[in-house]
Amino acid sequence: MSGLSMMRPSDAANADTATTERYIFDPGSLSSAQIMGDACAICHVKWPRPRNPLGGLPEGHEVYGCDECAGIVEAHTARSMEHALAIH
Ligand SMILES: [Zn+2]
Repeated sequence: MSGLSMMRPSDAANADTATTERYIFDPGSLSSAQIMGDACAICHVKWPRPRNPLGGLPEGHEVYGCDECAGIVEAHTARSMEHALAIH
């Protein structure tokens, strides 16, 4: 018997490190101001105007966040967004 094939470990590693996707926000959970980029997508602050890209909407629109929330998103990962949402 010689047909034994093993999955190369590098294949699994590649799948595991492909985490460069940006966070996708649910348009239904954002206000129109947040969708338009007039308000922080996380804490709703409108001033100073948020200009840090936090992620996008399924259709490709970008949403923005204030400096504070952008820092939170960067420090943790997109996977911790629910925790960030609970801060405010
Ligand atoms: Zn914010």
